[in-house]
Amino acid sequence: MSQLVFDPSKVMNIDYTKRTEYLDGLEAIKAAHKVLKEITYTPSLPDKGYTNRTLYVNVDTLEIKEKPVTQTMKDVFIGGRGFGLYHLWNAVKPTTRWNDPENEIIISPGPVSGMTQYAGTGKSLVVSLSPQTDIPIDSNVGGFYGPLLKFSGFDALELQGKSDKDVILFIDGQKGIIRIEEAPTDPVDSHVLAEILTHMYAENEADLPNISVVSTGAAAEHSLIGMLNFSFYDRRRKCVRFKQAGRGGIGTVFRNKRIRALVVRGPKVAGDLNHPVDPETIAKTGVKYHKEIRENDGTQCMMRRNGTAHIVEIMDAYDLLPVHNFQYGSHPDVHKIDSSYWQQRCTQHTVDGCWYGCSMACAKGADGLVLKTGPYKGDMVTVDGPEYENAAGLGSNCGVFDPDYLLELNFYCDTYGICTITYGTLTAFVMECYQRGILNNTSSRTAGAILSSSTTSAWRTRASSTPSTCRRNRWPSRAATR
Ligand code: SF4
Repeated sequence: MSQLVFDPSKVMNIDYTKRTEYLDGLEAIKAAHKVLKEITYTPSLPDKGYTNRTLYVNVDTLEIKEKPVTQTMKDVFIGGRGFGLYHLWNAVKPTTRWNDPENEIIISPGPVSGMTQYAGTGKSLVVSLSPQTDIPIDSNVGGFYGPLLKFSGFDALELQGKSDKDVILFIDGQKGIIRIEEAPTDPVDSHVLAEILTHMYAENEADLPNISVVSTGAAAEHSLIGMLNFSFYDRRRKCVRFKQAGRGGIGTVFRNKRIRALVVRGPKVAGDLNHPVDPETIAKTGVKYHKEIRENDGTQCMMRRNGTAHIVEIMDAYDLLPVHNFQYGSHPDVHKIDSSYWQQRCTQHTVDGCWYGCSMACAKGADGLVLKTGPYKGDMVTVDGPEYENAAGLGSNCGVFDPDYLLELNFYCDTYGICTITYGTLTAFVMECYQRGILNNTSSRTAGAILSSSTTSAWRTRASSTPSTCRRNRWPSRAATR
């Protein structure tokens, strides 16, 4: 496998500030909101990484209360995952199912949350009982919500209960207000909803980056694979973008509770808001760390240039790429969806990161995609990614080697609120069932759909001579060249 050299002259010239806007109707949607409960509180910044309180909200009883963070929580349950599991343990019984009111969704940024001196500190952990297993799941996500929650005064957010109407939880960390609002006419899908809510709750244009929205989409209500989109406002593109808490179906729990969205309005972010124990050492080490990333990334990880999608060709070279429901580990068409393509297609004029100061900057964006299908056909959108999981799960594993269709699939999974990895894996499985005649298009279970990929004939030919138990096969054309 040769080292991929970045050639700026090959980057597609796409205007990354252009896309379809969805702000029509904002005022009517806002007017339909009804305040169900409002409390005031005293916003605070973290001290040594902790605000020392968490926020509990019950969307059924409308109870909103602060809880203290104990020293035991910090010592034993350190980190976002620890706090999430601690709260979940205290909330549920052994008999609790995912769709019981006592099941919780806990969002917790850890103690290093929001530090701009290190890559990756925008992350939060989301914990709940999964609808897929009824046991705890944690999902790791970027975007602005976690740090803005922390800088609004809370180390974690617990959501419990089930509402009988669609609601939005708004935390205003600038004014010290928390509101539960009924949201009867809000849009359903994330790319529309988050754009509207970001503009609805920002007081002016300069305030847009202080807003983050957690939402899901239509498919989360009709499947067990719902995910959560955590938004971040991209100042260069002047648009709302997303990172996803994908695994485990937490978006399905979210909609089962009838939560339409969570909105936080935090303070303007600065480099010292986390107030770490030893800021001088943090600053010194951070400079060294950023320098190493900048100097070495281009010859090692390529995260700054390609994001996680740079792994596609590595996995293919080592025969580990999921292809056609993991029947193969490589594919001759992989060059159509590997880094050599994404380096041209993703906007490279701008350093992408989903939190301030992240020099890893792996949150790539493909701008200017005009959708060819579905209810948003004809709209021009920015697709977040593709990440490796999307290129491999929605692409090679489903036999999709047309990058525009891969991006379109990525877009619809995101805005409909379903996990791309799970969707890709399920779809690839069903396609193999179709390939092997277990399903066919006369079956009522496929509703007449032909579940085949663009390379079905080659796939069929190969599969017909391959025992059904055989996995990790090489495609003949690749094998012949090795
Ligand atoms: S840009 Fe990438 S590395 Fe940086 S915080 Fe976001 S997900 Fe993490």
